[in-house]
Amino acid sequence: MQMKTLSLLVAGALATLGAHAAGVTDKMIENDAKTTGDVLSWGLGQEGQRYSPLKTINAGNVGRLVPAWSFSFGGEKQRGQESQPLIHDGVMFVTASYSRIFALDAKTGAKLWKYEHRLPDGIMPCCDVINRGAALYDNLVIFATLDAQLVALDQKTGDVVWKEKIDDYAAGYSATAAPLIAQGLLLTGVSGGEFGVVGRVEARDPKTGNLVWVRPVVEGHMGYKYDKAGNKTENGVSGTPGKSWPGDLWKTGGSATWLGGSYNPKTGLAYFGAGNPAPWNSHLRKGDNLYSCSTVAIDVKTGQIVWHYQNTPNDGWDFDGVNEFVTYDEGGKVLGGKADRNGFFYVNDAKTGQLVNAFPFVKKITWATGIDLKTGRPNFVSDNRPGDPTGSADGKKGNVVFSAPSFLGGKNQMPMAYSPDTKLFYVPANEWGMEIWNEPITYKKGAAYLGAGFTIKTLGDGPIGALRAIDPKTGKIAWEVTNNAPLWGGVLTTGGNLVFWGTPEGYLQAADAKTGKVLWKFQTGSGVVAPPVTWEDKGEQYVAVASGWGGAVPLWGGDVAKKVNYLEQGGSVWVFKLMK
Ligand code: CA
Ligand code: CA
Repeated sequence: MQMKTLSLLVAGALATLGAHAAGVTDKMIENDAKTTGDVLSWGLGQEGQRYSPLKTINAGNVGRLVPAWSFSFGGEKQRGQESQPLIHDGVMFVTASYSRIFALDAKTGAKLWKYEHRLPDGIMPCCDVINRGAALYDNLVIFATLDAQLVALDQKTGDVVWKEKIDDYAAGYSATAAPLIAQGLLLTGVSGGEFGVVGRVEARDPKTGNLVWVRPVVEGHMGYKYDKAGNKTENGVSGTPGKSWPGDLWKTGGSATWLGGSYNPKTGLAYFGAGNPAPWNSHLRKGDNLYSCSTVAIDVKTGQIVWHYQNTPNDGWDFDGVNEFVTYDEGGKVLGGKADRNGFFYVNDAKTGQLVNAFPFVKKITWATGIDLKTGRPNFVSDNRPGDPTGSADGKKGNVVFSAPSFLGGKNQMPMAYSPDTKLFYVPANEWGMEIWNEPITYKKGAAYLGAGFTIKTLGDGPIGALRAIDPKTGKIAWEVTNNAPLWGGVLTTGGNLVFWGTPEGYLQAADAKTGKVLWKFQTGSGVVAPPVTWEDKGEQYVAVASGWGGAVPLWGGDVAKKVNYLEQGGSVWVFKLMK
């Protein structure tokens, strides 16, 4: 018996060693949300709930949270730091502005290696030189670059293992989202909706970078699949050509999938948001313009669109529908929540896409009076759509309208969190508006393709940002914590009854998840526009967040940018633990 026990132990140890040597596995990624010793995916799990069951740090003791270490990304390359760190095997992998990635000792902050991607002149990121994070697979760490490439590096050495071009940066393509791993595939989108690119989702072999399938999310484009030798065959057209786009506009239809995706193992579907249709001038493209401003659910096995739900048909306000679709279990069903740029919060059945609930999560919405739960369509306020320039006196500028939210959104790139304990979503929301008008435009490769002008406006002198705890069943706001500057960082919630989020004013802060009472905050030295993470190591719980003000607000924020122009740039990552 003793012999048998021993051999079992040896086998167990070998299996552990084997798993270790083999690196990050599909099983580990699928369990990421439950395993508290690592953070293997953007969203702390494929569903993107950003919930950790850890409660070592909790509402009772969070006041004792102090810095463990901080690391500077260095150089002159500061700007917006929107990255979510990953933690594996005692190492933190964190990306930074200008397509950089660092491997750091998670305990001490000591630098193990860095990789700086060589960027060509002429890249065209619309909204700052940011990056949102990496993916881990096997012995690789994989991230996307501003010149629309994917780079896979050896986790131990930082050596480049493979590099693949997604598309032509000179045509306006770029990439900033963290890749998603699902069913052993690496899923990525594209940025460039302001340049008339064609939005799509691509699946690759994460070990080689070889394409497996491509699914365009502009109706009318052909999908493809690839065999092991790289031979390409047709895999069905997305939607019905000519149905929701007039003329040839679908060829440069935008719908950029720039925030990446989430995945639910129960449905087998990957959920990607598709951004604004191009150009912004909606009068040029009568119709729904699928799949712009939609959640698109794709069968990871086949690369086919299983369902779509369009949040803003025939968008005229740049209400990119890219916002993350976060799935959760309720009453034996898998549902998904999405706080859209257009100001409405949507709940869809994650299997079928059927709309379950929709309600505003910001106070002022001018473009629609509500969402019809029967038809799933918005009740538009047609007078509040920016006017057609062809109907104006000189044909050059359509009616100017005041619109809320602004195109920077009721919520933008900053990912929300969902707590299965409180059953609330924690949404970083903003209250602002814009003056917007349309102009004539024709497509030119590599040039901005808007056909619109705009100025972002405040809605008064009060706070712009608000972290809101939202009940997806009732649409009620359980609590909110307002913030003077617009919120631009993501959220983390934990089993310790805590919600963590950052502010442009530089604070990482924590509130009681049930009441919203702010219990702790720390000044990081620059604006926080990134989502925090947490993990444990030998019984000690850590919280980390990147700091560095930037992103779209200082670049495009109009009157709001002026209001917050005192905020300083930065570039660092902070790690916290409880004071002994
Ligand atoms: Ca984990
Ligand atoms: Ca856009």
